[in-house]
Amino acid sequence: MSTQPLPAVPFLKIPEDADPYLEGHRCDSCGATYLGERDVCSKCGARDQMSKVKLPNSGKLYSFSIVYRSFPGIEVPYVSAIVDLDDGTAIKGNLIGVEPDPAKIEFDMPVEVVFDDALGRKDREGNAYMAYFFQPKAG
Ligand SMILES: [Zn+2]
Repeated sequence: MSTQPLPAVPFLKIPEDADPYLEGHRCDSCGATYLGERDVCSKCGARDQMSKVKLPNSGKLYSFSIVYRSFPGIEVPYVSAIVDLDDGTAIKGNLIGVEPDPAKIEFDMPVEVVFDDALGRKDREGNAYMAYFFQPKAG
């Protein structure tokens, strides 16, 4: 029995006694970061030089699209976004806290990564999932 939510994606880490964070892998040779594990850097070709890193919780909006049709049970419209984190890692996710209206969303606007319940999804044992979202940075 655990009240700890499960991560919705493998690169979301939920420490027992600290805030959740996204985990990337950084090439020790050229500094490029990636989501998920890999052995070879696709930027510089270095092999077996990847270190785990905690990704920053802020970045800026690189691109977005407003989704009007999705799977049954998924509330639409919502904003699907690609964000460049402060360390240059590109990551895809949903932008929340803003109207799904192109007039309200700007490219390069500062966003922060937030962690929340994955929209009520639960596994067969009833465990909740935690997911990450982007929201416009206050101020
Ligand atoms: Zn590299």
